[in-house]
Amino acid sequence: MRIEANYLGMALELHEREVENWQYFHHCIQHEFRLQRCDECGLVRYPPTTACPWCASSGARWVPVDGRGTVHSYTEVHHAVQPAFKPQVPYLILLVELDEQRGRPTPHEALRVVGNLTTVDGVLAPKEITKTVGIGSRVRMVFTDVARGLSLPQWTLDHDAPQPHQPWRAP
Ligand SMILES: [Zn+2]
Repeated sequence: MRIEANYLGMALELHEREVENWQYFHHCIQHEFRLQRCDECGLVRYPPTTACPWCASSGARWVPVDGRGTVHSYTEVHHAVQPAFKPQVPYLILLVELDEQRGRPTPHEALRVVGNLTTVDGVLAPKEITKTVGIGSRVRMVFTDVARGLSLPQWTLDHDAPQPHQPWRAP
């Protein structure tokens, strides 16, 4: 079984044989953010994988994770590699450090999840919003429904959280 979809003109394909991805996106389509928690060491991991990156155990179960965090790093795209993305520039790709499991197993190995910056409706954020977001901004997860059977986890500004006075942005 497989799912084919089109996201802003870019073809996406998900196949059942990619077991962990298939299970991950099965939760996303229900707008549930779940990650694997290792049965052996108890750590949650991202991206979905067959074995735990810290203890190599293959035993894990999917647990709900709070999709809130802080922008750890970002890229602002001005030159779209995909022609279909041209009308969308400039847009942001965020690397978000989750509040969940922060600082474990080490301060350098946190759970960091990639996604675009979007509006609360899951649409790529316009320039007026992208220019206000940088390292330190507080964000929460939203889901973009791309096609029947496929939703992408994305990030939007968390208006319930205190925001830094001036998030760091590349000069
Ligand atoms: Zn483990």
